Amino acid sequence: MPELPDVAGFQEYLEANVVGKTIDHTSVKDDRILEGVSSHELYPRLKDHSIQSIQRHGKFLFVGLSSGGYLVLHFGMTGEVKAFRNGDDQPSHTRLLLAFKDASNLAYVSKRMLGKVSFTEKRDRFISEQDLGPDALSDRLDRDRFLAILSSRKGNLKAALMDQSLVSGIGNVYADEILFQAGLNPADSIEDLEESDLKHLYPVMRRVLRVGARHQGHSEEYPAGYLLRERFEGGRCPEFHGELTVTKVAGRTTYSCPQCQPRKGS
Ligand SMILES: [Zn+2]
Repeated sequence: MPELPDVAGFQEYLEANVVGKTIDHTSVKDDRILEGVSSHELYPRLKDHSIQSIQRHGKFLFVGLSSGGYLVLHFGMTGEVKAFRNGDDQPSHTRLLLAFKDASNLAYVSKRMLGKVSFTEKRDRFISEQDLGPDALSDRLDRDRFLAILSSRKGNLKAALMDQSLVSGIGNVYADEILFQAGLNPADSIEDLEESDLKHLYPVMRRVLRVGARHQGHSEEYPAGYLLRERFEGGRCPEFHGELTVTKVAGRTTYSCPQCQPRKGS
C-alpha cells in the first residue's frame, strides 16, 4: 500500500513526466474513484490548464493547475501513476486519464478501486477537511510538536503512528520499520513509554521515511538491518535473533522482534 515514501516516489515521477504540460482532455473510466466531484464538474476544471506543481501531504498528492486549483490523488491499496505516449497501450486498470496536448498521457491506475481522486480550490482547506495531521517529513513537524502530539494520546503506539489525523503519511509497513529501528514494541501503549523513548522515536521516524523515499518499492535495496527486507513469512530479525514475530496490532499484520523490541507495558 502506498505510504509516504511511495507517494514521494510518485511525486518525483510526476515532476519528471507531467509538470509544464497542458491538459487537452480528461477521461474518467470509473466514477467510483471520484470523491466530492463528478466527472462533469471535473472536466472543465482541467481542460486547457497546465500542470504547475506537484505537492505532497502525507499520502496525498496535489497536482497544481494553472487555474489555481488542485487535482488531488490518493492511492488506496494499489494505486499508482503511469505516463505513456499516444499509440502505446493504455495501462490496465486505468481509472482516470489525462491526455496532454503534446500527445503524451497520464494514467491513474488503481487495481482494487480503493484510491480516490478529488478536486480542491484550496489545498489547506482540503487538508483540514480531511482531518490530516502535519506531514511526517514536513519542516513544521519538529521534535517538540511530534512529542506533544503523541503525548496527548493514550493507547496503542503503532495505531497512533498510523493515525493520519495525528501525523500524516505513515502506514502499516513503515510503522513496523520505524518501531523496529527505534527498539519499541508495536503492542505497547504510549502511556507505558518514557519521554526519552518518544524523543528517540522522532529522528528514527524521519530517517526511516527518508531512506524509504530513496528506495521506494525496491525492498532489496534497503540498508542491511532493515526489517522491510524481511517482511514476509519466515522473515528473520536483521540482528540475528531468529524468525520475526507476526501478530495483529491495531487490526494490521505486524512484524517485530521480541528481543530487539522488548515490551515495556504489560
Ligand atoms: Zn532482533
